[in-house]
Amino acid sequence: MTPATTSGKSNGRPKVGIFGLTGCAGDQLQILNCEDELVRLSQRLEIVDWVMAKSDNDHSSRLDVAFVEGVVATQKDLDTLKEVRARSRVLVAIGTCAVWGGLPAMRNELPREVLAREVYKKDADFLDTVEARPASDFVPFELMLPGCPMERHEFLRLVNSLLVGTRAELPRVPVCWECKSRENLCRVIYFKEVCCGAMTRAGCGARCPSHGVACAGCRGPVEEVSYDANITMFKDRGISWVEIARRMESFSAPVWMKLRLEKEVRK
Ligand code: SF4
Ligand code: SF4
Repeated sequence: MTPATTSGKSNGRPKVGIFGLTGCAGDQLQILNCEDELVRLSQRLEIVDWVMAKSDNDHSSRLDVAFVEGVVATQKDLDTLKEVRARSRVLVAIGTCAVWGGLPAMRNELPREVLAREVYKKDADFLDTVEARPASDFVPFELMLPGCPMERHEFLRLVNSLLVGTRAELPRVPVCWECKSRENLCRVIYFKEVCCGAMTRAGCGARCPSHGVACAGCRGPVEEVSYDANITMFKDRGISWVEIARRMESFSAPVWMKLRLEKEVRK
């Protein structure tokens, strides 16, 4: 998106909206945490609708770019998402919840009524929740930026690329690639832990293994996962597929299951 091709511009700046569906608002916080860069961004973008960060919001004008985080877990979420889609030229899913389902989708494993009664007791009736699914299941998105939360440097790069009219590419390699380049001791090979690095998209700098913790797959799957090679690697170290699937379920349950893991577990 170059400024010359944007719609609904104000003073040459593209109009932007930032929206949260059901989630922890961690990706919006990441934008706020951009601090110094945020001032520069506000000079290049006109943020017209961002309920979390400002009070004078315009809820109806056309948007050049809208960022959406979170899952659809209520009818209100779905209505909001459809409205945002209708008024936006470029829609960007930010964070693993919006892209893959993330932590909120874990609850889909259990009946909602049971969970609601357990948590809210007799007040559970006011809930209007539906199955938690990623925003990307409901409307088309032009771009997706996974991560729990998304990485600030990736967000800033994506915004810059939109401003100059190029496309920011996400890493196509797994977390293992970054992990190796940091010369970490592999959590699988040396510690026999269940680490999802080989199947997870890089971009976080192998944050967890670099701090001695196995990757939990929070960025979702990398393209072209070699499941067979991974099965062999874990099996050779006495780690079952059930353990792997359980760990991966936490952040990207729907997609991991939709892919091949469940099939592999049942082999
Ligand atoms: S610790 Fe995890 S991310 Fe690092 S190389 Fe081993 S499997 Fe890959
Ligand atoms: S190492 Fe894995 S769990 Fe940790 S931040 Fe990176 S992708 Fe997420």
